[in-house]
Amino acid sequence: MEIYKGVSVFSNVVIDRCVFWNQDVDLVIQKTVTNIEEEIEKFYCSQKRSPEELQKLYDDATYMMLENDAMIFKSHQMMIEDNDFIEKIKYYIRVFKCNAEYAIFKSAQDYIKIINSVNDGYISQRADDVKDIMKRLINNLNEDFSNKMNINVNEPCILFIKDLMPSEILSVDRKNLMGIVTQRGNKTSHTAILAKNMGIPMIVGVDASLEKFDGKKVILDGLTGKVIIDPTEEILQNYKEKQIFLNNEEQKLKSLIKLPCVTLDNKEIKIMANVTSSADVAQALNCGAQGVGLYRSEFLYMNRATMPSEQELFDEYKSTLMVANGREVIIRTLDVGSDKNVNFLSLPKETNPALGVRALRLCFEHLGLFKTQLKALLRASAYGNLRILLPMVISVSEIIKVKKIINEVKDELKCENINFDQDVKIGAMIETPSSVIISDLLAQHVDFFSIGTNDLLQYTLVFNRDDTSLSELYQPNNIAILRMIKMVVDNAHENNIWVEVCGEAAGDPKMTDKLIGLGVDGFSVDTPNLLQIKNTIRHVNYEAISDNLLKKITKNSFINN
Ligand code: PEP
Ligand code: MG
Repeated sequence: MEIYKGVSVFSNVVIDRCVFWNQDVDLVIQKTVTNIEEEIEKFYCSQKRSPEELQKLYDDATYMMLENDAMIFKSHQMMIEDNDFIEKIKYYIRVFKCNAEYAIFKSAQDYIKIINSVNDGYISQRADDVKDIMKRLINNLNEDFSNKMNINVNEPCILFIKDLMPSEILSVDRKNLMGIVTQRGNKTSHTAILAKNMGIPMIVGVDASLEKFDGKKVILDGLTGKVIIDPTEEILQNYKEKQIFLNNEEQKLKSLIKLPCVTLDNKEIKIMANVTSSADVAQALNCGAQGVGLYRSEFLYMNRATMPSEQELFDEYKSTLMVANGREVIIRTLDVGSDKNVNFLSLPKETNPALGVRALRLCFEHLGLFKTQLKALLRASAYGNLRILLPMVISVSEIIKVKKIINEVKDELKCENINFDQDVKIGAMIETPSSVIISDLLAQHVDFFSIGTNDLLQYTLVFNRDDTSLSELYQPNNIAILRMIKMVVDNAHENNIWVEVCGEAAGDPKMTDKLIGLGVDGFSVDTPNLLQIKNTIRHVNYEAISDNLLKKITKNSFINN
């Protein structure tokens, strides 16, 4: 038996078999072929399929007014048609008498080696373009390869993997994913948030070479962050009992579903759910969510070669509102960049992506993309109680700019005689230090605030939220953060707007009394945490905690500082 410790994302216990997924790209196998000309013909067939795909990507990017990005697809096309590249591939097929996949792989490696030998940030990014082209050509040739590139688990297991991107978790068959263990990542990385949203227990930051555990029996203890490999019979039995206990506790919490969400002294607190698609809404409502407090809209843009159309977005938003059946639904506009990548934008590599072109600023650069989303949102607003939330706000001028764009879209809809909610409410995410400091001004321009503690902590306490080694800096009860939340709440209430908290701190029972004491009006949490948080809220005495907490944070006698 071996025990490893990581950071738990979701408190649950799973016992299952481990499947290790190898992400190394060195998986193109060299095979000997007898018919050289046939192999060369195979390569040409794969090459001929690419222009159509690349043209589609180019058209989409142009449609979105992404001329610079669109040019990337033109350059990929040029490389695929480049004579030297083609000759190199044919040369390898002939000399090694090898399969076309391997020849493409070898040729691409040659180019990557040259590129990597040049010490220039811009040029080294081109290695990714070569990899992209290589993958496209090999994918077109060989289904097995694309199967290997896309994580594919076909039986229930605990997935062990070095690192997992948000787009990748979405591509795995959810019903087979009993749990996830990664070497990298952190509690508030988007992959972890998605896993929690999907109800998949996950432990990140396990410092071990995971491949050696492939096929072994594993206990994933989300209560303590332990990963137990090859457990003894006695330990296994203990954990089976723990699972039964946890299931019973979960059943007990179900009795709260229909009870009001109020504190002991009768202060009403709104409890809503964080979702990533319309498919999550029914379950959230069944657990007693009063609406959707955060719909992270970016996941619909991931894992696809082309941008979603206005109609596709509209259908999805409309479904969400229809399922919510008149309850509030807060949909956040596209928040991509940093760890949330979208293939069809081919975002440039940045040295510090968390501080780069992301969220609103990315939408301003890609106006066509932004307007398409806003139009779909406004069209959907006719079907329920929609609120639009803006991510990563840092200034009042951004809000004014968005409102101007929204007005342009509204005018277009009026011209087209399409119904929409003329008075749709607009909110700002408060997740940057600047938005906290100017929250008095922002409150005069928006209808509500949503505090994103994940990014607020990252930018205030200065740590990368995806980095396991910095997980100790994730301190939602740090006095700086508590003071910031208090400031935001006061500024919101002075301007008669309400405040919810939608970051992971809202789903952490240790933070519930503090957030209530600071005066927040609502919590938006992942569905698996909802009833536990409601239970905690119902045990808090607002008046008592508020007085006590305010004294502590003003006198600077708070723990942790
Ligand atoms: C946050 O930053 O707290 C938040 C809710 O947004 P996200 O986690 O999607 O960045
Ligand atoms: Mg955020």
